Amino acid sequence: MPAARKDSLTEALAAHDPLAYKALYEESPSIYFVIDAESTVLAINRIGAAQLGYAVEELEGRSILSITHPEDRDRLRQQIRDCGAESCTLSFQEFRKLRKEGGVLWVREVARSVQGSDDRTVVLVVCEDITAKKQAEQRLRESEERYRRLIETSLEGVWLLDADNKTTFVNAEMARMLGYSVEDMMGASLFDFMNEHERAIARRNVERRKHGIKEVHDFKFRRKDGAEIWTMVSANPIFDPDGQFAGSLGMVRDITFRKQVEKELARRAAELEKSNERLKELDRLKSSFVDTISHELRTPLTSIKGYAEFLEDNIGGPLTLQQRQFVEEILDGSSQLERLVDDLLDFAKLESGTFTLRPARSDLRDRVREILKVLKPQADENGIQLEATLPDEPLVLQMDAGRIGQVLLNLVGNAIKFTRPGGRITVTATAVADAVRVEVHDTGVGIPPEHLPHLFKRFYQVDTSSTRESSGTGLGLAISKALVEAHGGQMGVESTPGKGSTFWFTLPVSAGSEA
Ligand code: ADP
Repeated sequence: MPAARKDSLTEALAAHDPLAYKALYEESPSIYFVIDAESTVLAINRIGAAQLGYAVEELEGRSILSITHPEDRDRLRQQIRDCGAESCTLSFQEFRKLRKEGGVLWVREVARSVQGSDDRTVVLVVCEDITAKKQAEQRLRESEERYRRLIETSLEGVWLLDADNKTTFVNAEMARMLGYSVEDMMGASLFDFMNEHERAIARRNVERRKHGIKEVHDFKFRRKDGAEIWTMVSANPIFDPDGQFAGSLGMVRDITFRKQVEKELARRAAELEKSNERLKELDRLKSSFVDTISHELRTPLTSIKGYAEFLEDNIGGPLTLQQRQFVEEILDGSSQLERLVDDLLDFAKLESGTFTLRPARSDLRDRVREILKVLKPQADENGIQLEATLPDEPLVLQMDAGRIGQVLLNLVGNAIKFTRPGGRITVTATAVADAVRVEVHDTGVGIPPEHLPHLFKRFYQVDTSSTRESSGTGLGLAISKALVEAHGGQMGVESTPGKGSTFWFTLPVSAGSEA
């Protein structure tokens, strides 16, 4: 405060009775005290007194110290003393005033000593209520404290860098992750915590952040003990109010364990892939082996069968009864072997994908009738009734008639094998929606439910005594299903042990069927 102004102000005020100012201050929202050098309140404005919860009369004549918070009294006493000693001392200080009904009023005080007309020095104290500001500050402090605690206890590392990538803050988790103390890390450069290769990447990342790019990436840091850890970093740029790059905020999570698991999984997947390849190769080998063997078997089989038929037809001379029986046995055996070889060949083709269909328009009813005719003698021989329920209208489909005949032969053949004398087998074919459904129903031994899901797997046979009695390879159903599916159809079974089974398949009436 310049001396000239101080003098003129003091003089101007001194020319008047300070108590006269009370009327002026009466309606002011501030609290105006006039006190003497002993701290006695000479005057206070009405609104000021009301703010403290008092009537003016209750405060006048009373020490200002008595309505000041005990902890602030010495400071206020000193201020009044200073103010009185050196005329016109001006100061801003924060004090707590005590309200009459309890509670504290925070005020910011300006004190000024003036010379009274009677030459007495009085002190004029103006107080501004700053309670709301103080409360807001307190709330801010509390909220800052809450955030600080949150960050401190966070399971993620928090890392704050300035524009030069120097550490300005790290939480305990961040320091723990890297094996340092928080103090060790303060001021250290981001680049001190990584190897050369990562340093180059980190520099590029910082450059991108300067352009406002936020990123989440996996990043390798080097710990104090030299070990490397994998982290997932969410890095955000910080800009000052002028838009200048001011640093970075990183949220860092330790993902070393996840990386190890991923690595291990990748290794196992590669191993699996390799063994899968080996299995596929084995499968290919097996298919080509079956293919070769089947062909090799077929040639001698054809000659065995051919020569046996010559014998049967007496081309090699007349046979005795016993010789004829032996020849029949040879023919039976070679027929069985021929079926087996055919199945194996079909199976090998289906497995290797070299199987092809020869579709043509054909009435499915004809295929059913044909197969029934072929199998009728066998059914009669076993005392089984074999019949078909077919619609009057043709069921013309685009299909490989030979292959569908093979499916029917397998299903009806099985039904005969697994039905006791006196039983009945019915084949039905019906048009349903956009397909034809064929059912082969028998009153045979049936199939226990636990076997049903496996029935169409290759080489699967139900392990019951009746099954063991009957011949077969366990390939028939697998081949039949593959053939039906190759036509775009489906195959399934329903069965009740002791009552019988129904094997069914569908064939789509596709656009091609009308072609
Ligand atoms: P297989 O050459 O052994 O007959 P399939 O694949 O045709 O081979 O049949 C597999 C097994 O399914 C048979 O061994 C038999 O246990 C069972 N099975 C098939 N059809 C019937 C049926 N109609 N009744 C009872 N069991 C059947």
